[in-house]
Amino acid sequence: MQLGDFELHLIVAGGWRPDGGTFFGVVPKVLWQRRKPADEHNLIRAACVGVVVRHRGRVIVCETGIGTKLDERRARQLGAWEPEGLLGSLRRLGVRPEEVDVVVTTHLHWDHAGGLTRRAPDGRLELTFPRARHVVQRAEWDFALHPDPRSRAAYLEEDLLPVAEAGLLEVVEGEVEVLPGLVVRPTGGHTPGHQLVLFRPSPDLSCAVTGDLVGLRPHLRLAWNSSADLDVLRVIEEKARLLEEAADHRWLLVLGHEVDGPAGYVDAQGGWTPEPALNDEVEEELTGREDAR
Ligand SMILES: [Zn+2]
Repeated sequence: MQLGDFELHLIVAGGWRPDGGTFFGVVPKVLWQRRKPADEHNLIRAACVGVVVRHRGRVIVCETGIGTKLDERRARQLGAWEPEGLLGSLRRLGVRPEEVDVVVTTHLHWDHAGGLTRRAPDGRLELTFPRARHVVQRAEWDFALHPDPRSRAAYLEEDLLPVAEAGLLEVVEGEVEVLPGLVVRPTGGHTPGHQLVLFRPSPDLSCAVTGDLVGLRPHLRLAWNSSADLDVLRVIEEKARLLEEAADHRWLLVLGHEVDGPAGYVDAQGGWTPEPALNDEVEEELTGREDAR
């Protein structure tokens, strides 16, 4: 889809099967399961949704998913699917990893930063995108390396340290225009340095990659939030601001973990209209994958 001079491609960088309750916090299951039916083990399907963007000769990757480093046991525990989703999507777009100029994730949890690194055939860790600037909020980087006890399992040093060691880490603070029209805006809430990634050719023409601020379509409701959010009130505040702006200016939203039409437009009543130009392509990929499993 063309958004001003940004060429946007929606990608699904794999996914997993989380316990449904982890995504809905205090919302009772009788309510959430009407919108996200759980299987007999209480698991739902979550995708790692991102975008690949071409803009004035540059390639930008936003969100990298779980990646390919999980061992078999862990992958089975998580119900991980399509670990090659990120690189497969890039291949279909004709983009080689070394051509990527900028990588940005909403935050550094394992399900967003896992694809930043991978194992070389000899077992060494290497950067997936060896030439790219990797843009991270200062608060997120510091917290990821020194997490609180509750967050420890959500950050993996093998996803992060190679980026710094390669000298490709670009730490930013606050709202920053990384490239003309590419803006990161801190929200905090889910994690201390969680940020929105905005592709903004003009104030009235924007796409926001929401990460875990709005992970699934049911999270468009202000009070429906993930159990993993560290600061729930902050999430509600930032989500209210985003949804108002998105409805007023008809921003395209890309929801961080939705499997069913993750890109679309929200209206002032909280209604959701999927964007067919983006979703149809991904739908085909997802259905093809499901059959192949
Ligand atoms: Zn997430």
